[in-house]
Amino acid sequence: KPAIQLKNISYTYDDGTTGLKNITLNIKKGESIALLGPNGAGKSTLLQSIPHILKPTQGEIKVLGHKVKNNEEWVRRKVSIVFQDPHDQLFMPTVFEDIAFGPMQLEICNKNSIEEIVKESLKKVGLPGKEQKGSHDLSFGQKKRIALATVLSMNPEIVLLDEPVSNLDPGARENMIKLLKQIDKTKIIASNDIEMVLQTCSKAIILQNGELKKQGPAEKILTDN
Ligand code: ADP
Ligand code: ADP
Repeated sequence: KPAIQLKNISYTYDDGTTGLKNITLNIKKGESIALLGPNGAGKSTLLQSIPHILKPTQGEIKVLGHKVKNNEEWVRRKVSIVFQDPHDQLFMPTVFEDIAFGPMQLEICNKNSIEEIVKESLKKVGLPGKEQKGSHDLSFGQKKRIALATVLSMNPEIVLLDEPVSNLDPGARENMIKLLKQIDKTKIIASNDIEMVLQTCSKAIILQNGELKKQGPAEKILTDN
């Protein structure tokens, strides 16, 4: 079974703007796929359509062979998204509560083990011991890593990352690239950072005006351009 299947997916925003136009696409388990394309191409819309945070106007999406109908609990267990802006992901008073939120909501753990899950997630993103910090105490790069930790804590099979290295300084960017390489899951990474894509993704897809323009091996797609 493929990890993700999109069949003739279109998305139109309420104001009539086309987000996606007739996208058909298969992603195998364990693949790391880059989603490329200029601003407004539909990258964020595509990522958010997969778990039906945005419900496609047309077409069908399957996750691990199962048809997605809404942003149901089973979908939220399997697919997690790291938003471009960490402020969209971090809304609790402390880092602990932000990272514990997903696992608690999905009842992935009991109260006894949540401390362990949070601790482990912080270790994975290289920020051990930050449990009691508030997001205002953190640098932007640290916020991006905590946002990633809120997703890893749910142990999803599929991770969608929207511009994980945008607006990071060179050090924070290198840090994030290292973390991305360590995530041993099916991944889709929306980005225009070509060097990062070559380091982290084997395949690439180019979107333009909501349409799929090209797909293939990352190196080929990027050198053809
Ligand atoms: P990308 O992530 O590639 O920059 P987006 O998926 O954000 O592209 O946007 C695709 C298209 O949808 C663009 O034309 C964008 O302006 C439009 N769009 C995005 N969000 C909204 C929204 N909430 N309402 C209306 N149009 C939107
Ligand atoms: P991206 O990096 O995905 O292109 P943007 O900066 O385009 O993100 O969009 C940031 C926010 O603005 C998103 O929540 C998006 O949905 C919203 N947005 C983008 N384009 C439009 C639009 N034309 N009308 C309304 N909202 C939009």
